[in-house]
Amino acid sequence: MAESPERRDGSLKYPPIVKPEGCHLQEVCSGVFWLRMPLPFSLNHINLWLLEDGDGWTLVDTGLANDQSIEIWQSLFENDLKSRPLKRLIVTHMHPDHLGLAGWISEKSGAPLHISRSEYLMCRSLLQYSHEQVPADALAFYRGAGFDTEQLDLYRSQFGGFGRMMRGLPHSYVRLQERDYLHIGNRQWQVVIGEGHSPEHVCLYCEQDNLFISGDQLLPTISSNVSVWPSEPFADPLNDWLLSCHKLKSMLNNETLIMPAHGKPFYGAIHRLQQLIDEHENDLTSLIEFCEQPRRAVDCFSVLFRAKINRHNLMMATGESIAHLNCLYSRGQLERHFDGEGLAWYQKVNR
Ligand SMILES: [Zn+2]
Ligand SMILES: [Zn+2]
Repeated sequence: MAESPERRDGSLKYPPIVKPEGCHLQEVCSGVFWLRMPLPFSLNHINLWLLEDGDGWTLVDTGLANDQSIEIWQSLFENDLKSRPLKRLIVTHMHPDHLGLAGWISEKSGAPLHISRSEYLMCRSLLQYSHEQVPADALAFYRGAGFDTEQLDLYRSQFGGFGRMMRGLPHSYVRLQERDYLHIGNRQWQVVIGEGHSPEHVCLYCEQDNLFISGDQLLPTISSNVSVWPSEPFADPLNDWLLSCHKLKSMLNNETLIMPAHGKPFYGAIHRLQQLIDEHENDLTSLIEFCEQPRRAVDCFSVLFRAKINRHNLMMATGESIAHLNCLYSRGQLERHFDGEGLAWYQKVNR
């Protein structure tokens, strides 16, 4: 690819590839095609990747289960995928924009779902919940974070929403795990697992051609959500996330072509990973100072987020605040105590 027309954005470089629209497949490098599916959120798209695989295709991620995505897929099945069938479906992780249509696509094409075991099982377990069954533990968790009555009602109203963004999940799957190798077309792709954004996120690395399909594990402009959820209130996903960033830094280089799930393909993985690590470490440092006085998770929004916290981002902001607090607790830099009302207070350890 020519060097000159590439766009630079700080330390990242974007190859001059036109972003595809609708059903159009845009070739990114030989045998790798980019499909950009709309999402009805402020994050308005997800990138899917179609890899030439002999006489068929391997697909990475599916899009959200809604009419708009299904319409695009119907058209693809009638055109590009008609003479070349879908042979294999790989899903990076369980979030509905990635896994939402796995059941539908797998049924329509016969392509088996390939996913890591934790992602598959976590999705299966979330699908069991419906609107009426908000667990008392979960309410106690958000009350402890500092939610008021209105915020708890909002949580109740959103509970069980995961299943509404999915259209089934295949009843069996092929397990992907760290260091598996997949032969797709004439390339060998290594499975690389990332943690922190989701339990066992699959990325695909082709060392020979220096290509990396990163899912949500490495994005060019947004920082992936790293949250604690009520099912595991004392988890430390931020530590997992930082370890994964360091692992990717040791494998990739600034010439690796990163194909992310959101945003544009880019070069500059090492710069971007270091930036993500630095942002989190800086946030952690600021939080320690902020917690000179005892603080609740909701008090930390002003330190961690520039955006205004509203009903659309409250759950993620809370999860992310607790992730930072739990990380500092694990590192021995904050202590935590629960008061008589069940509120969790965090304070700097002064030695
Ligand atoms: Zn995700
Ligand atoms: Zn995503």
